[in-house]
Amino acid sequence: MRTDMLIGGEWTAGAGPVFPSYNPATGEVLAELREATEQDVDAAVRAAAAAFASPGWGGLLPAARARLLLRVADLLEEHTDELARLETQDQGQPLNVSAGFSVPNAVEHFRYYAGWVTKITGVTVPLSVPDVDYRSRREPVGVCGLITPWNFPLMILVWKLAPALACGNTVVIKPAEQTPLSTLRLAELIQEAGVPAGVVNVVTGGPDVGRALVRHPQVKKISFTGSTQVGREIGAECGRALKKVSLELGGKAPSIIAADADLGAVLQGNLLGGLLNSGQVCAAYTRFYVDARRHDEFAHQLATAAATLRLGDGLDPDTHLGPLVSAEQVEQADSYVALGKKEGAELLTGGERPGGELARGFFYPPTVFAGVRQDMRIAREEIFGPVLTVLPYEDPEELAVLANDSDYGLAAAIWSRDIGTANRLARQVKAGTVWINMMQGLDAGAAWGGMKASGIGREMGWEAITAYTEVKSIWTSLA
Ligand code: NAD
Repeated sequence: MRTDMLIGGEWTAGAGPVFPSYNPATGEVLAELREATEQDVDAAVRAAAAAFASPGWGGLLPAARARLLLRVADLLEEHTDELARLETQDQGQPLNVSAGFSVPNAVEHFRYYAGWVTKITGVTVPLSVPDVDYRSRREPVGVCGLITPWNFPLMILVWKLAPALACGNTVVIKPAEQTPLSTLRLAELIQEAGVPAGVVNVVTGGPDVGRALVRHPQVKKISFTGSTQVGREIGAECGRALKKVSLELGGKAPSIIAADADLGAVLQGNLLGGLLNSGQVCAAYTRFYVDARRHDEFAHQLATAAATLRLGDGLDPDTHLGPLVSAEQVEQADSYVALGKKEGAELLTGGERPGGELARGFFYPPTVFAGVRQDMRIAREEIFGPVLTVLPYEDPEELAVLANDSDYGLAAAIWSRDIGTANRLARQVKAGTVWINMMQGLDAGAAWGGMKASGIGREMGWEAITAYTEVKSIWTSLA
């Protein structure tokens, strides 16, 4: 298992303090790593800057760069089982999530962006200026700092890394301190694929390492996924330095269940949509708006179904829900449950840490609150755990207002048998992504990102190409 950092093509142990990465299913230390120092970050950024300027990368023809990305995709795919097990052990997600979703999604992203490498075009425009020819071209930005969270460590990294490399940038990655292992293994496979030294660098550690990367003057762009609070800090720092920045931040996705929805049919989608990866999903469905006359029926069905899900080690094939990533996340879920009770919401299931075998890991059971009001903090703040809130509504005309009454705007779900109602709501809801009659779906081709406090910019699709390139206008005199 790789635990050292990759700087300029060399694996270096670093001299900073040691920090542990835990297996959240057992609470045991899985690996020990070193916190990068300012000098390590500086060395990684300088290596990336040198690689950016080198003919070995900058001079590579697009078709050759595309082939490299395809080779990375193939290697990732060949190592699916190994990477999935590593992700499950470090992050906690059940194997069916890591092997069935996280790693395949990362593979697809590399393939998708390998396809873009030879299609990154500029435009020619007929200017109203005599005797000139005008064209634009898209150029890579330079060294990009990629800072990732712990909930889908490999997949979210690749959402950034694949387009950054496709556009010809070089990168310094700072994985979340809780879950660095799949990132290091991916970096090793990238080396094996033949990506030149210095193009991809990894520094490990916590917030201070991220700060050093954001502040470094040779980093031309930061792509960050994480909490809104940290996103604000990074955005401010990048604003001062006039650095490009993309921010993928928190969410509190509403799931709007119209009066005509078939409750039986929507139950499964909402259960999975709320509890995938134990609710540690930025787009998790967490606020369920249900017609007041059907509120009790839906809330009880949801709670009954949630209570049947089996908690366990993600490596166990019978596990439905793995642990939360850390003791802090368990604390957070627990404190929101206490708050929900205090606020007067009705706890239907969950809300207590499990005992026995599971007590040594960071487990929390699926928890459902009914009779939740819009002004309660459990309905307004991101819990990032398996805590679901059901809110009754009286007037369907108010649904969009209720859904939009949130700081966040990452995603929303709408359930209705009436295509007109569903699409009208989809237009009204302020969210970067709306899913109609389905649980969350993701595809490299579909733009991803948030409105309001959920972020700035978009990943995936052509949008990610624009995020990792600068447009240059070139004028030529024909006179
Ligand atoms: P976090 O903000 O605490 O940390 C994210 C990363 O930033 C980590 O690598 C961390 O070490 C680093 N970091 C922390 N402080 C920093 C600073 N001041 N400067 C630079 N780097 C810093 O978030 P988290 O707890 O790891 O992740 C959970 C959050 O991420 C949730 O809010 C969730 O909604 C959000 N998220 C959003 C998306 C999305 O696509 N919008 C996807 C996944 C997670």
